[in-house]
Amino acid sequence: MEKLKESRGCGKLIVRDGWLICPGCHKRVLRVEPNTAAQNLIVYCRNCKRTVTVDIDRGQCFESQSPT
Ligand SMILES: [Zn+2]
Repeated sequence: MEKLKESRGCGKLIVRDGWLICPGCHKRVLRVEPNTAAQNLIVYCRNCKRTVTVDIDRGQCFESQSPT
């Protein structure tokens, strides 16, 4: 059952020291607690002006597939 999650987890984002790391510039962009959960959360990085849509599940972040 758990293996289904892995197959769609190709867009995993880095979380370090409780912060989501921007995939573009590797700066900290969002505070993430171990019990944080969100769906289709839009995160804007002020450093590289990049917008990333993320799903957060128990402190793990995944980049959402954009419809475009
Ligand atoms: Zn960035």
